[in-house]
Amino acid sequence: MSSNGIPGPDSEVALRVKAMESLLLEKGLVESNAIDALIDMFENRLGPWNGAQVVARAWSDPKYKAWLLKDGTDAIADMGFEAVQGEDMVVVENTPQVHNMVVCTLCSCFPWATLGLPPVWYKSAPFRSRAASDPRGVLAEFGTEIAADTEVRVWDSNAELRYMVLPERPAGTDGLDTEALAKLVTRDSMIGVTNVAPPG
Ligand code: FE
Repeated sequence: MSSNGIPGPDSEVALRVKAMESLLLEKGLVESNAIDALIDMFENRLGPWNGAQVVARAWSDPKYKAWLLKDGTDAIADMGFEAVQGEDMVVVENTPQVHNMVVCTLCSCFPWATLGLPPVWYKSAPFRSRAASDPRGVLAEFGTEIAADTEVRVWDSNAELRYMVLPERPAGTDGLDTEALAKLVTRDSMIGVTNVAPPG
């Protein structure tokens, strides 16, 4: 997409992907409905809306929250969101005392089932190194103010274990049902680089 909103010519990568897809189809190595299913998974079935529903349920149901913090993999699977790459999920809770932030210092490990594909900045070398060495500085760049007496914890995701943050429930949300709560929850708040803003 070009800056004026009109679709531009395909990039070189897109053209190579299309050429590869037609070759695989032609040689009978893959079926087009298998490719469609894969694309559907990444476009429609994985993504931060899943994680937002997990967070909203945890905010609304203390028993579910306790389960989520104890066994993230099973509690998330209970919502129908199974790990795509077989990894275990660990959910860490933000409180007034502790702010959690997730990084993959090695590469770009990310919980696809609940958050979708990682944003570009998550995969960038500066984020990966500075999240570990200067987490408060990184948070400040995301506009996230953390009180001086709040402990900042950084969790390093890897191939076997992926972290997700349970953000703090914002003020002014007492009357909201889980669907309205989920709409407040952003991807970045579940990575821990931002907090969930109050409604309005
Ligand atoms: Fe990684």
